[in-house]
Amino acid sequence: MTTPLRCVLLSTTLDLARHFGPVLAEVADVIEAVPHPVAEGAGDVPMALAWFPPADAFAQYPNLRAVCSIAAGVDSLLACPGLPPDVAVVRVVDPDQARAMSCFVLWHVIGHQRRFRTYAENQARAAWRPLGQRPAGEITVGLLGYGRMGAQVAADLAALGFTVLAWSRSERPPEAAVAHHHGAEGLAALLARTDVLVNLLPLTPETKGILDASLFRRLKPGATLVQVGRGAHLVEADLLAALDDGPLGAAALDVFAVEPLPEAHPFWRHPKIVVTPHEACDASPQAVAAMLRATATALRAGEPIPHAVDRGRGY
Ligand code: NDP
Repeated sequence: MTTPLRCVLLSTTLDLARHFGPVLAEVADVIEAVPHPVAEGAGDVPMALAWFPPADAFAQYPNLRAVCSIAAGVDSLLACPGLPPDVAVVRVVDPDQARAMSCFVLWHVIGHQRRFRTYAENQARAAWRPLGQRPAGEITVGLLGYGRMGAQVAADLAALGFTVLAWSRSERPPEAAVAHHHGAEGLAALLARTDVLVNLLPLTPETKGILDASLFRRLKPGATLVQVGRGAHLVEADLLAALDDGPLGAAALDVFAVEPLPEAHPFWRHPKIVVTPHEACDASPQAVAAMLRATATALRAGEPIPHAVDRGRGY
């Protein structure tokens, strides 16, 4: 029997030991979870499980080799100034999570197609007003990001008959169900045709602030924004202006610059905004356990770690 690898738990926002208790129990044969700061033997800690880690935490673990995120995104880890450059940063990849994301996005896309907000307004006035129906094919959904999440969302939207465009960093071969775009020209072409824009990008220096006034101006008038990436993708004042003075018709926001969203924030009470509390989809406990087990196994065998991100690219 091998000795479990020590894995320090690093978070300023979550009690990881409590939140992931059953997960850590499930992988106890390969990992010994230890609270931060480690009282003794900090040099014998090769792994960390992290979410918004303390800024100075990494300096205390000189032999750290892999830091695992609890989520699909790794921006809170890469933003940590003390993160050593040679440490692998690992993310959760979970097909069930991608399916949950897809259901969440479908709620808002179908809400736009079938005008759910107008029905709600009419009901509040006891107004019986049939609004007519638009076939799915008449609604064009533009996806920013065609990774694990974006590809699942695209497949499900296309299966329901929506017209799907996707924008990614790299060029892709054409597909029957999805029209692919890349680069600045590709983004412009996508925006000009988009009725519902879904942000599924990772937060990187290139994508920070991408949802701004200049982007909103290039969408079709009355478009809906579905923002499920990260709060820092959005320039909040530009969104409010675009909703109040056009061209945006509505926005569904799941992620915010400050979370929890402060009670006095204007997003809460804006008639054209739907707020959800960063819950589009969580990684399942099983997927987090699988990531931890695979990382420990790879570290022990000296093999490449599955789902380690490209730190240069930022995702
Ligand atoms: P992936 O890493 O699998 O995919 C990222 C996609 O974004 C890729 O298609 C990539 O292009 C594209 N991309 C990255 N940078 C750029 C750029 N500069 N220009 C154009 N395209 C770019 O990520 P996931 O699909 O797993 O997740 C995406 C994000 O969704 C996460 O990082 C997280 O922020 C968010 N998320 C939010 C959740 C929530 O509950 N709200 C839950 C889960 C994820 P290419 O294909 O060319 O590499």
